Amino acid sequence: MTEPLIYDYSSPGRAGITMPQPDVPLASFADLPNGLVRDPQTLDLPEVSQLDVVRHFTHLSALNHSIDKGFYPLGSCTMKYNPRINEETARLPGFAFSHPMQDPLTAQGNLALMYQLQEWLKEIGGFAAVTLQPAAGAHGEFTGILMMRAYHLDRGDAARKKILIPNSAHGTNPASTTMSGLEVVELPSDSRGNIDLEALRQACGPDVVGLMITNPNTLGLFEEHIEDVVKLVHGCGGLIYGDGANMNAMVGIARPGDLGFDVLHYNLHKTFSTPHGGGGPGSGPVGVSERLADFLPAPLVAIVEDGDDDEPPLYGFITPKKTIGRMKAFHGQFGMHVRAYTYMRVHGAEGLRENSEVAVLNANYLLAKLKGAYYLPYDRVCKHEFVLEGHWADAPDVHALDISKRLMDYGIHPPTNYFPLIVKEALMIEPTETESKETLDQFAEVMLTIAKEAHESPQVLKTAPHVTPVARLDEVRAAKELVLCCRPLPEWAE
Ligand SMILES: *Cc1c(COP(=O)(O)O)cnc(C)c1O
Repeated sequence: MTEPLIYDYSSPGRAGITMPQPDVPLASFADLPNGLVRDPQTLDLPEVSQLDVVRHFTHLSALNHSIDKGFYPLGSCTMKYNPRINEETARLPGFAFSHPMQDPLTAQGNLALMYQLQEWLKEIGGFAAVTLQPAAGAHGEFTGILMMRAYHLDRGDAARKKILIPNSAHGTNPASTTMSGLEVVELPSDSRGNIDLEALRQACGPDVVGLMITNPNTLGLFEEHIEDVVKLVHGCGGLIYGDGANMNAMVGIARPGDLGFDVLHYNLHKTFSTPHGGGGPGSGPVGVSERLADFLPAPLVAIVEDGDDDEPPLYGFITPKKTIGRMKAFHGQFGMHVRAYTYMRVHGAEGLRENSEVAVLNANYLLAKLKGAYYLPYDRVCKHEFVLEGHWADAPDVHALDISKRLMDYGIHPPTNYFPLIVKEALMIEPTETESKETLDQFAEVMLTIAKEAHESPQVLKTAPHVTPVARLDEVRAAKELVLCCRPLPEWAE
């Protein structure tokens, strides 16, 4: 990689800003111990103009792909547009400059917002209570599983150690289960992409804490026997954990609580339009049914004194009776609460439902355009996403990875690759509702072109990408040994 460093623009004496006159007596520097006073000549700072700096960093910011730059159909990640009004509200001084240690009496507006967000998430999921504490989807899973475990222990039932997880699940599901000290039992899927009911029936028993299920699952398919699944697990005394990271096909249409789910996490940074993927911290609130409500992490935001016609209610913090304790410092990612709240206010109940409908429509539109040219292992109407195979028997050298790399040449972010594990050479495509028909048409056209290239000139795919700043990286090292500053690059990145 040959991108210039900011040092390359440096010229002695050039400056980007005019320093203000110091407002402390200069003589006081003399009082500092010698070892602490630095000689500016030895600091090796770049001497650059403001314009140099702006151009340099604007250029760097455009090297990476982002949702603001182009289509980003990364399945299971719901890379929808992050509306700018969310940023405006999050920057309102009353929100941005409040402090988590502030007396709640002086932060009533913030608490009111958190309370309302809890209420809306309750309504959307069909749950009795919600915590906003967890900082990510996986953190929400961990919180939920700890509550499930605490629920059984509280009933004096210590024999339950197993969490059942279908083999289509996101990798965080078995990871959070293992972290909580419980044991993962993997369940097979049937030929239509549902949980294999017979295998579930066999696995259910007095040693089961519960089932973790993603619905629609990671194939983008709605579980066709969800009522039977819930009945079987509840029948053996287990609980149902819903992985609600992707609620983009459900919001306003179906409520997991109504289906009998006991606990579910939401990803505000997917369904509710807050930024992610380097753009901001996550937020993974968790909703629970009545029987888990007492186990929620503390503190929760509550109305501690009712209001009336003249006075608003008084908000404060409460501790559920059998709380599993605190899951995060302070009150969660408050800036993300403001953004998600804004998103819900802007769209309203009907708008949120319409977003789900359009997300499903967009995914099915793309599916219909692509399924002739790519193999579709589970040929059903999809929800918010679908999974194709990125491989053809008559183009054996080309793999899903090559297709993804080639998409980058066309300015499109690749779909999710090689997940879910039950589809070989998986290409998992999620367009979201924020994309126009024109963008979908253009993507479909590019995908069809690539399918043709795979058969006629596979070498173009094998050597892609051709137009990006770097070609094929060692992806593991690139992620594990991030280069985040302007030091000279390590050898592997050059
Ligand atoms: C993204 C995702 C998660 C994990 O969410 P994080 O915020 O990345 O921890 C869990 N399950 C599914 C299905 C997801 O798509």
